[in-house]
Amino acid sequence: MNCLWHSVTTALESALPSGRCVYPFQPNFDDVHLATYASALDAELRPKFHVLPQTRDEVTIFIKTIRNYVIKNNVKFAVVSGGCLTARGCSSIEQGIVLNLSQLKGIRILSEDIVEIFVGEKWGDVYALLKSIGKMCVGADDAGMGIGNGMSLDRGLSFISPGEGVMCNNVKSCDVVLASGEVIHTSDNATPALFQALRGTGNNVGIVTSIRVRMFDHSQRIYGRTVKYDYLGFVAQIPMLVSAMQSPDGLKGADVSMRFVVSRTSGLFGINYLKYDRQTEEKTPPQVLEPFIPISSECKLGPADLSDLIKGPNRTPGKRLAHMHTCVRPDNTILVEGVDTFIIRTMDLAWCEGHIFSYCLYPYYPSHLRNINTRRDQFSMGTEPFIMIVFRLEWENRDDDNNILAEFQDVLEHIEHYANCRDVAVRFKNMSYSAHFQNPIASYSKYKRDCMKWSCSFRDPDDIFHWGVPGPWKL
Ligand SMILES: Cc1cc2nc3c(=O)[nH]c(=O)nc-3n(C[C@H](O)[C@H](O)[C@H](O)COP(=O)(O)OP(=O)(O)OC[C@H]3O[C@@H](n4cnc5c(N)ncnc54)[C@H](O)[C@@H]3O)c2cc1C
Repeated sequence: MNCLWHSVTTALESALPSGRCVYPFQPNFDDVHLATYASALDAELRPKFHVLPQTRDEVTIFIKTIRNYVIKNNVKFAVVSGGCLTARGCSSIEQGIVLNLSQLKGIRILSEDIVEIFVGEKWGDVYALLKSIGKMCVGADDAGMGIGNGMSLDRGLSFISPGEGVMCNNVKSCDVVLASGEVIHTSDNATPALFQALRGTGNNVGIVTSIRVRMFDHSQRIYGRTVKYDYLGFVAQIPMLVSAMQSPDGLKGADVSMRFVVSRTSGLFGINYLKYDRQTEEKTPPQVLEPFIPISSECKLGPADLSDLIKGPNRTPGKRLAHMHTCVRPDNTILVEGVDTFIIRTMDLAWCEGHIFSYCLYPYYPSHLRNINTRRDQFSMGTEPFIMIVFRLEWENRDDDNNILAEFQDVLEHIEHYANCRDVAVRFKNMSYSAHFQNPIASYSKYKRDCMKWSCSFRDPDDIFHWGVPGPWKL
């Protein structure tokens, strides 16, 4: 270890309680490191060490200690909470420090309708606690997913979003540690510019330590089904989704997302994920979901508790995972063209070990969009419904990385070009599902980007988060 890193580790070790820094020579390093990331693309970037703060004060100590090394010695660090953002290098780093927030735990009921959740928690534990008091909040569909800030302060989608809105609308305030080490409690009432800037910004402005989320009474059981059917059925299902999205009341609070899967081991098939959060004990599906259960399908699960629906943790060490996406208006032609191109191009990649390539359709109904564009359509989402086409790509070997990512980037560009020609393209990009070559921040309105830049220059005049925290989406 050279003098600089000796000095950095000595400074952190003496400022933080013992055991907070975990180094590669320690036997538990691999357990900590590999458990942090959903994708091996991130896990194989090897940092100098992880720092695992357990309290907000310890995050403050970290920032105050490290900021001079960032300014004077070009030391770099990554910030990670849930580790689910698969764009490589956003929350991982080679030969820098990982500020790993997974131990920053705590779930506190603050009032009848607000719960405070620290960013190291997992959604499964939040749901379990809220269920015990007959409450619920909007969160990820995957119990193993962390609270983080990727989804929470972005336009994260939950199966109850059709009724309750996207994630960032449900976060009422949060605590953030700024580059100076100052802790600010920010909301639409206190420091509204900072609160707005934090939404959809990733790691550009500060380190979020906890979020306060709206909760509501929820004693009902939840209807959930995973419906698997043969691959020809997928194209037949698309018009049903399109017409449901075009009707003014959508699916009446139910949620449908669809996937077309090409798997090396299981072949080609379609899956519909059907969810409805106001279900009685009846075994039959709500009428509005019936068209999404093809006759020759295999179904799993009828009316169920949330804990049956949310299985997590969805992590396989060593698995390479990537997402990329684009958004289009509900339009049969573009969605069918998309899946056709996707299938044809996967033929060229059929030899890739362990591949599971999915073409996913995530709808944004008008009810999702209510209130989100608080001012001047900040996220360029508009108020018209649209569908996010997400490619979820899993495979095993590093040697296949370039071929797979380049091939699907090309498919995505083809779909975007075609969507532009048909005038059904939507500018919006969701950071949560972006690949390294996409730029969600560029998709925001100029007003939103100016607000974010202003907050950064005001709150972080030394550009600690710009230069000290590398990644693809810097302001
Ligand atoms: C298995 C799986 C299931 C998913 N399920 C859903 C779902 O149901 N709904 C949905 O909308 N999306 C879902 N996603 C997508 C997910 O929302 C995004 O990947 C999201 O960015 C993950 O947030 P995270 O905090 O876990 O990510 P991380 O990788 O920890 O961080 C994401 C970005 O935010 C920064 N960051 C992290 N924590 C902080 C912090 N505390 N303060 C400041 N910056 C921070 C990081 O540096 C990074 O740039 C899923 C993804 C996976 C892999």
